[in-house]
Amino acid sequence: MHTARSYLHALVGGPAALPNLSEVSVLPFESVCALGHEQVVYCHDAESGLRAIIAIHDSSLGPALGGCRLYDYATEADALKDVLRLSRGMTYKAAVAGLDLGGGKSVIIGDRSIKSEALFRAFGRFIDSLGGRYITAEDMNTNVTDMDTIRRETRWVTGVNVQAGGSGDPSPVTAWGVFHGIKAALEVVYGTSEVGGRTVAIQGLGNVGYWLARYLREEGANLVFTDIDRSRIDRAITELGGSFVEGDQWYETQCDVLAPCAIGGIINSRTIPRVRAPIIAGGANNVLEDEIADSERLAEQNITYAPDYVINAGGLMSVYAELHQLPHQKAMDDARGIFDTVKNVLGKAQAEGTSSIEASNRIAQERIAAVRSTKRLWTGRV
Ligand code: NAD
Repeated sequence: MHTARSYLHALVGGPAALPNLSEVSVLPFESVCALGHEQVVYCHDAESGLRAIIAIHDSSLGPALGGCRLYDYATEADALKDVLRLSRGMTYKAAVAGLDLGGGKSVIIGDRSIKSEALFRAFGRFIDSLGGRYITAEDMNTNVTDMDTIRRETRWVTGVNVQAGGSGDPSPVTAWGVFHGIKAALEVVYGTSEVGGRTVAIQGLGNVGYWLARYLREEGANLVFTDIDRSRIDRAITELGGSFVEGDQWYETQCDVLAPCAIGGIINSRTIPRVRAPIIAGGANNVLEDEIADSERLAEQNITYAPDYVINAGGLMSVYAELHQLPHQKAMDDARGIFDTVKNVLGKAQAEGTSSIEASNRIAQERIAAVRSTKRLWTGRV
């Protein structure tokens, strides 16, 4: 059995080349294999301070696309865990959205102070070296400007600015998809997708939440807002009307839909008993703290949950359109199709007596398996 030490000896040729070997305690293969990843790439550039991990989970459906997150992880293991989890989520998101994309993600370890032209260019060169197997985009703490810098080294980047031929901020498309996903959930629960007169409580009035509020208001919904930033609530109320609740009261809002559009992990064993709304459907990623246990809790409490990665796929549709140089309207039309996808997922969950997450996971797995099986056909292309 190989230890970390013996593997590294084999790779670099002996103890003289191995400073700080005592700090090497875990080889990541076990965790990589556990979630079924294809490839995980560690990227290091001493001059720019770049330490990044690119994870390609599954490329059966196409190149692995997923954002680049910059985060000051407490440990390297935390960074690895995050990139493995997020990249697997992208596989499922693209599969259920019907896109020809696989799942990938990358993380750069550090806080915002490490951002520099050299850092993103170095990262761009690593992405380029993968020859299109991984395509990046914005994520937490990275933005359009950073993608523009990466673009100087590789074409395998999306979310670059509109002037440079990119699609810019995907949030309005994400919100458009969430809006239609909410309508689908309303139809399943109330028998009509009519938004007028319904009350929707939005947590988080950032890029996605604000646009969602606008779409809902245009169709006559009553809006309730919460945000940790009071100025965002004030702007929404001034422009769109509606009322607000203080942070923690949001869970207990008497409304038709709770729309989480801020952070992840907010629906959990502590908050579910407080929920009064029959529907949870919003744009935030990783809404459930424990995907399986919390989705079962919601089902037990008869709360309809539109899986996060299904309803918020509009952003991915936006960068997909950019990748294939399709018009913006195509992304908006695809995002409108989230209505049918959410209805299909919720219908499958009802028919099979499972949670909506299980139903959507199964749809993803079935599509991947079906497309993968067609690859056995020899096309003659060499
Ligand atoms: P954002 O940073 O623009 O907005 C987040 C908002 O939430 C801010 O107004 C912030 O003040 C507020 N907020 C933060 N913590 C809060 C809390 N505890 N309670 C209440 N409000 C809080 O982010 P965004 O781009 O609008 O994304 C929102 C969510 O949607 C994230 O989970 C993101 O991962 C997810 N998402 C975004 C996109 C996209 O296209 N932007 C696509 C898919 C998923």
